[in-house]
Amino acid sequence: MYPNWVLQRAKLTPSRIALTYEGISWTWEQMKTISLERAKQLSMFNIQDGNRIAILGPSQPRLIFMIYGCMHLRCEMVMLNRKLAKDELAYQIEDANVSLVLVDDEDINLLPEGTNYILFSTIENKNAKGQGVSISEEWALDQTITIMYTSGTTGFPKGVRQTVANHQANALSSVLNIGLSEKDTWLCAVPLFHISGFSILVRSLLYGNEVRLYRKFDPNQAVEDISAGNVTHMSVVAVTLERIIHGLEERGLKASEDFKVMLAGGGPVPKNYIERAHSLGLAVSQTYGMTETSSQTATLSNEDALRKLGSAGKPLFFNQIRIANASGPSEEGEILIKGPHVTPGYVGRFSNKNSTVNGWLHTGDIGYLDEEGYLYVVDRRSDLIISGGENIYPAEIENVLMGHSAIREAGVCGIEDETWGQVPIAFVVLKDYATKDDILSYCLNKLAKYKVPKEIYIVQTLPRNGSNKLMRRKLKELIETNN
Ligand code: ATP
Ligand code: MG
Repeated sequence: MYPNWVLQRAKLTPSRIALTYEGISWTWEQMKTISLERAKQLSMFNIQDGNRIAILGPSQPRLIFMIYGCMHLRCEMVMLNRKLAKDELAYQIEDANVSLVLVDDEDINLLPEGTNYILFSTIENKNAKGQGVSISEEWALDQTITIMYTSGTTGFPKGVRQTVANHQANALSSVLNIGLSEKDTWLCAVPLFHISGFSILVRSLLYGNEVRLYRKFDPNQAVEDISAGNVTHMSVVAVTLERIIHGLEERGLKASEDFKVMLAGGGPVPKNYIERAHSLGLAVSQTYGMTETSSQTATLSNEDALRKLGSAGKPLFFNQIRIANASGPSEEGEILIKGPHVTPGYVGRFSNKNSTVNGWLHTGDIGYLDEEGYLYVVDRRSDLIISGGENIYPAEIENVLMGHSAIREAGVCGIEDETWGQVPIAFVVLKDYATKDDILSYCLNKLAKYKVPKEIYIVQTLPRNGSNKLMRRKLKELIETNN
């Protein structure tokens, strides 16, 4: 058994700052008091120890108070993604068998018809004076804290259980890698309903450091906080990283010396961003993680960032990474992961699917380990194109296309071909004028001939999911609309 994180943290460092939002700060003692109040109020709506509920709301302190209130009651929290369409939310609410959604008043219109919900304000306004509630002071390792749905990039989103053990193991191996000081402040501008954001809360509870919360990503504010030394860490994805780099460049600013590291995950980060970041004094650590691993599995330390450009680094201390069927270094295959951070399994329609085989999580990602043991993530196995016996990874072609000065976005997939079995085709969104022939001759200079797309479609947008990830399986549908 482990102590309730919120109570333990408030006991250890009651007067330290836990959270800052729009100029207002809360100490750990205040976090405890408010979240205990929420737990009492929730119990007045018949929410009891161990119940499964869903939560939906924008990143604001009231969301965090609600989350911690639910944690006191050991609820299994299904973290709903507020960028999803109603049908997608309805799918998750049903799949997770959730009987009640706690919803921020602002997000009421996002809920599908017929959902059983309670508004945050209804809970917050409930008079809990004299209300007794038994708060669990200890948590079991196998208790589910959160259920998060995968992004649904390769198929139906899967509801992943993330336990006390998973979150703790992740936060611990992260700090063994990144280090810790009581002055650390983590800028959170990624969604709290994703593991990228939620893991910032877990780390802050375990380490006692401050979180500076943004309602949403704001590049100007981030540039200011990073250059002024208001924050020491930040989690980003490639797109947000680029906007910060651009902002610093434009204003002739550099990262403050107090700034320690940008943790960049969710997908590959173009090499050019890392090089530009370095010349601004902005340390970037590429990380590889997924919902099933409650955030990071491997992370590239900043000192290796340029020497191992494009790598996601080495496994964190408690984790192991293996490449299926590889007999030596640099051989590609499916990435397998083992460690205490790996989910015990899924809920709903995937609850019969084992998350691991002999303890190893099969990620569905293709990668390799170089001779020094650094991981390179190549692409998703399901998107592999086999053409005349050659393996072609869409990500490689997309990377080349995005290096073209007129191309903003690119997506590549395979189509059937009588001669070759499959051939790659490309879809591009332009930011400047270019013809298909321009793009093709550019590709011919940069790619082996069999990798050059057999057709280029110029489109207005690419199919993306709620996490803004490219859904390659939907690219082919664009062919018809473009013919
Ligand atoms: P689904 O499992 O429903 O298809 P998803 O895998 O996109 O969706 P997430 O758990 O949000 O859902 O994303 C994890 C995936 O993101 C990884 O399996 C990998 O494909 C990709 N990814 C994460 N980090 C990196 C990285 N550093 N480089 C390349 N790809 C990455
Ligand atoms: Mg996945």
